[in-house]
Amino acid sequence: MSDPLNLKCPGSDPQSTAMPALFSCLACGADIEVWSDESGGRCPSCDAYFKRMQLSDGSPLTPDEKLQVLIQYARKSGAGDAVILSIADIVIDDGLADRCREPRCENYGLSKSCPPHVPGPAALRNQLAHFHQAIFFKIDVPSEVLYSTERREVFQLLHEIASGIEDRAADIGFAGARAYAGGSCKKIFCHEHSQCRVISENGKCRHPRHARPSMSGFGINVAALFKTAGWTMSGTMQNPDATTTRTANVCGLVLIH
Ligand code: SF4
Repeated sequence: MSDPLNLKCPGSDPQSTAMPALFSCLACGADIEVWSDESGGRCPSCDAYFKRMQLSDGSPLTPDEKLQVLIQYARKSGAGDAVILSIADIVIDDGLADRCREPRCENYGLSKSCPPHVPGPAALRNQLAHFHQAIFFKIDVPSEVLYSTERREVFQLLHEIASGIEDRAADIGFAGARAYAGGSCKKIFCHEHSQCRVISENGKCRHPRHARPSMSGFGINVAALFKTAGWTMSGTMQNPDATTTRTANVCGLVLIH
């Protein structure tokens, strides 16, 4: 039972003079209600951190703050982790792209997002000169998931995060961001169709919002990206005792101007 000495009339508390005001999130544009006695917080829509002063005077996010918004977005969307890399950290290896053709990957030629329908390593090298940084992210899953019926859902999430980062980057001023993700969009999104519509009919992609090109076809050295990010690649034992679980990773890369 409450101590009667601690009971008091709620009306006897000093009245707060704080007032709410509505601002637009500098990262995503969503409305944020901020009370005058709050110094900052997180946007309920995109989770970007904001300072009240910054919203009040409309000062734009710095490039570093924008990149942090994208990292937060990736993590909130389901990425196990995400890092900012320099474009110089991206290693393009022609030999990796060649492996799509020989020995032939089962996805070779199935969609416009895989060789021989992508411009390949040479074109990507030229493009990288126009970008400054990249968001590299991964999803960690138990290895057996990638050999189960859930595999497609994992890769769908991967492409959704990659395309979502690309969209969010454009929203906050990084126009022209370009996303890549692992896996074949034919298997992930168009598995119920006999053919990729872009290739077979010269038509429009059925899933332009989410399907993104495969990293392999451009020779992107994923192992080098993992090393630079300080992450351990899939297949590593998490736990060397009897309860060991093998973890597998799938990953995506978004180039930022
Ligand atoms: S139509 Fe389907 S297979 Fe072709 S590029 Fe789009 S998602 Fe990929």
